[in-house]
Amino acid sequence: MSERWETVIGLEVHVELSTETKVWCSCKNEFGAEPNTNVCPVCLALPGSLPVLNAQALEYAIRAGLALNCKIQRYSKFDRKNYFYADLPAGYQISQYDLPLCYDGYVDITKKDGTTRRIRIKRIHLENDAGKLLHAGDDVTAADYSLVDFNRAGVPLIEIVTEPDIRSAEEAGLFLQKLRSIIKYSGVSDVKMEEGSMRCDVNISVRPAGSSEFGVRSELKNVNSFSAVVRAIEYERKRHIAILEEGGQVEQETRSWRDAQGISVLLRSKEDAEDYRYFPEPDLPPVVISDADIERVRAALPELPDAVMARLMNDYGLSAYDASIIASEREFAQWFLQAVELAGGGQAKTIANWQINELNRVMNEKGLGPEQIPVTPEQLVGMLQLIDKGTITGKIAKTVFEKMVETGKDAETIVKEEGLTQVADEGELLAIAREVVAANPKVFEDWKAGKQSAAQWFVGQIMKRTRGRANPQLALKLVTQALEEQAAKE
Ligand code: ADP
Ligand code: MG
Ligand code: ZN
Repeated sequence: MSERWETVIGLEVHVELSTETKVWCSCKNEFGAEPNTNVCPVCLALPGSLPVLNAQALEYAIRAGLALNCKIQRYSKFDRKNYFYADLPAGYQISQYDLPLCYDGYVDITKKDGTTRRIRIKRIHLENDAGKLLHAGDDVTAADYSLVDFNRAGVPLIEIVTEPDIRSAEEAGLFLQKLRSIIKYSGVSDVKMEEGSMRCDVNISVRPAGSSEFGVRSELKNVNSFSAVVRAIEYERKRHIAILEEGGQVEQETRSWRDAQGISVLLRSKEDAEDYRYFPEPDLPPVVISDADIERVRAALPELPDAVMARLMNDYGLSAYDASIIASEREFAQWFLQAVELAGGGQAKTIANWQINELNRVMNEKGLGPEQIPVTPEQLVGMLQLIDKGTITGKIAKTVFEKMVETGKDAETIVKEEGLTQVADEGELLAIAREVVAANPKVFEDWKAGKQSAAQWFVGQIMKRTRGRANPQLALKLVTQALEEQAAKE
């Protein structure tokens, strides 16, 4: 059913800039302070106070725009976006309407199958954040009362708006990961969804597959984690499809995502730009940016994820997807490069596999960030050398790796302490092989009847007895020997 419909998604992502001070005043921009301590007449919008643009916020916004391949507006201005809400002391947000600071950018995402998709960025504008409401209840519709903290009012935000180029929940997730990675490399925000320094509204519609017209969209608010984005999109597209397949029409609406229940509920029918009565901000002069300004900001940009990814593919032969994962965090890339160097340059693919499959998995399980990688490159390479020398089997290496993570000890120490050395003693393994062959006459008959998998089954038995420590090639050789001996006896 759902293959008949194509999903169309555009994201509006708000990112808090990690400037020292707020965007229109000199209050501290800090997360987690006592409520209402970082406030002043400007960010509380007391009468007579005037905003002044924070130069660092402007520079960070341009830096983000350049990192996201945007053009920078040479003449830009601020506008008032009017709406009445308890978290907005002025009754308007200072934002940008017709001349956003950055426009026409893009982000390339790499899918699991190695293909690339380009998601265009329509615009990035600079604005201030509102205060934070704390609802006494599940959400605003269920609360008895709300408290407001104005520490966040006036924190600089950039709003990044994509074109409706995203076609699935998977692509939306990859886009957000990539966006987060680029912004983090650029050093303009810590982009933590869980602390609210990156927030995302999801616009979604569906249309008959093959159609070139867009369907009516709904906008989902309160989508506050990467996994919630995926769940919200899956839910909402099914809701649209169900309406359309019953012959109904989707209404343009703003809806709230309730993650715990896995549903979206109506917040308001969609407002239009007119509802905000945008007009030019009279208290701030327009912003004029020269080519020299832009070149200075561009020159200070660090190497970005796409460049790191290209290096990992070209110099180390990694696949596009593997390279994209390792390049996603600066610390991952450094860890990988160090490990490869320690290993003498030859084991890039093996190191990438361990890093992506084992290391990332345990880090996700433990909720560790990239600055908390629990195994050093030296430790991984030490373990790989034990495999190469035949001291441990590849299978045991997984156990050793887990123990390295738990204890922080080297592979060599763990192998000694736990007696995990590979059994490569012919006499010992042959004795075990003879025992398991003698103890399983039925499988032996299968083998005699020509069943190939029977020998492998005996190897499995040897692995069981030695707790995975038997050298697999040697085990197979000795099983074959034991089977032939048994056959000769009969
Ligand atoms: P508005 O001016 O009403 O806010 P925009 O054109 O700025 O609308 O779009 C807001 C967001 O909605 C953008 O991310 C855009 O990609 C997305 N969007 C627009 N139309 C659709 C649609 N039909 N389906 C899904 N997303 C859409
Ligand atoms: Mg909009
Ligand atoms: Zn202030």
